[in-house]
Amino acid sequence: MCLFCKIANKEIPSNAVAENDHFFAFHDINPKAPVHVLIIPKKHFDSFNDITAEMMGKMTTFIHHVAKELGINESGYRIISNIGEDGGQEVKHLHFHLLGGAKLYWGHFADADSKDFF
Ligand code: 5GP
Ligand code: ZN
Repeated sequence: MCLFCKIANKEIPSNAVAENDHFFAFHDINPKAPVHVLIIPKKHFDSFNDITAEMMGKMTTFIHHVAKELGINESGYRIISNIGEDGGQEVKHLHFHLLGGAKLYWGHFADADSKDFF
């Protein structure tokens, strides 16, 4: 069983934010913003590549709920899902990073020059 499956099952403790039958939200252990929460489906999917549109619809509703609970839905926030090797995914259980609580930086994500592709 993977790390986030164990967190969803409460076999490994975490600082919970919200939960329902399908999803779990908890604070990231190494926060990169004043609010940094991870949102996961309780069912294991390796990454965003593997989730169905139906499940993603339910997850969207849950993410909206968590952003409201945290009081950042109006001030703004960012959701990120790292996927696979180039995406920098370290934990191979689908998760969305919910970041906010301050004005977030935005910039280049890689050394590659975008004119190489467009
Ligand atoms: P990834 O790089 O896979 O998109 O993000 C994994 C995230 O999980 C990282 O931000 C990391 O800090 C967080 N993380 C890793 N292990 C744990 C843990 O045991 N508990 C919590 N709460 N977060 C974790
Ligand atoms: Zn898992």
